[in-house]
Amino acid sequence: MGTSYLETHPDEKGYFGRFGGSFIPPQLEGPFAEITQAYNELKHSPAFIEELKHVRKHYQGRPTPVSFAKNLTEQCGGAKIYLKREDLNHTGAHKLNHCMAEVILAKHLGKKKVIAETGAGQHGVALATAAAYFGLECEIHMGEVDIAKEHPNVVRMKILGARVVPATHGLKTLKEAVDSAFEAYLEDPINAIYCIGSVVGPHPFPMMVRDFQSVIGFEAKEQFAEHEGRLPDHVVACVGGGSNAMGIFSGFIDDAGVALHGVEPTGRGEKLGDHAATLTYGEEGVMHGFNSIMLKDANGEPAPVYSIGSGIDYPSVGPEHAYLKEIGRTKVGLCSDEEAVDAFYKLSQLEGIIPALESAHAVAYAMKLAKTLDKEQTILVNLSGRGDKDIDFVVEHHPIPHARF
Ligand SMILES: *Cc1c(COP(=O)(O)O)cnc(C)c1O
Repeated sequence: MGTSYLETHPDEKGYFGRFGGSFIPPQLEGPFAEITQAYNELKHSPAFIEELKHVRKHYQGRPTPVSFAKNLTEQCGGAKIYLKREDLNHTGAHKLNHCMAEVILAKHLGKKKVIAETGAGQHGVALATAAAYFGLECEIHMGEVDIAKEHPNVVRMKILGARVVPATHGLKTLKEAVDSAFEAYLEDPINAIYCIGSVVGPHPFPMMVRDFQSVIGFEAKEQFAEHEGRLPDHVVACVGGGSNAMGIFSGFIDDAGVALHGVEPTGRGEKLGDHAATLTYGEEGVMHGFNSIMLKDANGEPAPVYSIGSGIDYPSVGPEHAYLKEIGRTKVGLCSDEEAVDAFYKLSQLEGIIPALESAHAVAYAMKLAKTLDKEQTILVNLSGRGDKDIDFVVEHHPIPHARF
């Protein structure tokens, strides 16, 4: 023990190489140290592990299966494509993996309320779900522009009993929602806890959220072996903040023979503001309390970003992804809006699975990769979520192609 990658990364201060760390106002140092200490104790607590296992199995719907995408594989004519079905989680995506755990941690710390920001509303809905289940108050901060755009998720959060607080300053989107949520947390760090929605933010969140998401990779490794009797050759996941990708990568990171691919959105082009391909086009910088690779504008501020997948349009990326790319353990793949929509329809019509637009980026990249490989090779794709949330938008802007039959 002690030599596996996950046990030795990050270091005690939350660094993956030079990425990560904690850049927060002095008033938050106490509360964050409390969270770190509680997590370090809890992760070895049999009662915590038991409770998490119980809710995952009896409420959340885990384990989620690994499915062979036979028709998609035949259509691509190369490597075999398998899907880890995170779309089958309660609430339709992988986010509940860390939200349930974060709320158990909050309960353990005696907190009464969970606070978070949300962009498209997916993290807000998952956290509101977990808070309802465990009987905690939930307050979600969301930019006014996003509130107007993401109406169904706003209604869902309210039905689930959460309070949705509009962020009304600046561009009124995700960055302002983060500011607003941090302010609310600063007002009451005794009764409240901040629950970050990906492997981003100050230490310990990138580590904690990764560990909570690692269930995806550990399950997938066993399930894949049931199908093929060995490890996959390639593992593919889309990267926004990077939590679903770190989740599945965690199961294979010590297996040097398994290539790990994180797929970034090139959106509608290579110009700043037209994509959210942070690792590809970004530079080092501190944002939202941690050092990583980010997309900056001319003034060094977070640049505007864009992707058709609203859960992956983030101008920074989890520090561990910046590190793993730098040491050459992971590869960065790219996928445009157009390729994602094509994969969205192909997976729907060939496999009967409507993927989230975010997940469709991973599928599209896997389709390109499969064609370059031979039939004995295998690709495992993390299907991070289902696409029900996206159907109205997709059919309005991209007509349904003629079906195969
Ligand atoms: C939020 C979300 C993502 C992006 O978040 P990561 O932290 O990069 O995983 C990807 N897919 C779906 C379905 C999501 O809801």
